[in-house]
Amino acid sequence: MTDPPSARPRPDPSTARRGSDLSAADPGPDPSAAHPEYVPAMRRALAEARAAAEHGDIPVGAVVLDAAGTVLGTGHNDRERTGDPTGHAEIIALRAAATTHADGWRLTGCTLVVTLEPCTMCAGAAVAARVARIVYGAPDPKAGAAGSLWDVVRDRRLNHRPEVLADYLAADCAEPLIEFFAHRRVR
Ligand SMILES: [Zn+2]
Repeated sequence: MTDPPSARPRPDPSTARRGSDLSAADPGPDPSAAHPEYVPAMRRALAEARAAAEHGDIPVGAVVLDAAGTVLGTGHNDRERTGDPTGHAEIIALRAAATTHADGWRLTGCTLVVTLEPCTMCAGAAVAARVARIVYGAPDPKAGAAGSLWDVVRDRRLNHRPEVLADYLAADCAEPLIEFFAHRRVR
């Protein structure tokens, strides 16, 4: 997540997804219409994203829900604030969720909702945490590992493969990123 995902022309999906052999990875229409149950969580993740920008971090936010839809953990990118290279929103939200979840680190049945497509580290963490589902907003053609540049989460060689809902409220989720980078270029 080094650049805003929508500040450059969207690549041809057929080439952006060349790292995956899953034709089903093509997101099609915004899945929020078919799955409105994740809208409140994505709105909360967006509020987290804006909190990251307040301390100079790239605005990405994440929320982990349990199987019943209860919020277990939230997080936003705080790499700059803390100097921690692993300080991505998803890692922070997964850690928070693991402390409140009944089964500890095994987030079986849980859903990771995040405003930007996870990178390789975060996609790997989601698989390791055994989340059932990843719902992400803006695609990240440059570093996304849930269908764009790579598809770490649905690699057939893995035992655990979370379901993915891509491009969920993607325009809303890209907005804080576009604002953040536009502001940074002006300065
Ligand atoms: Zn990440």
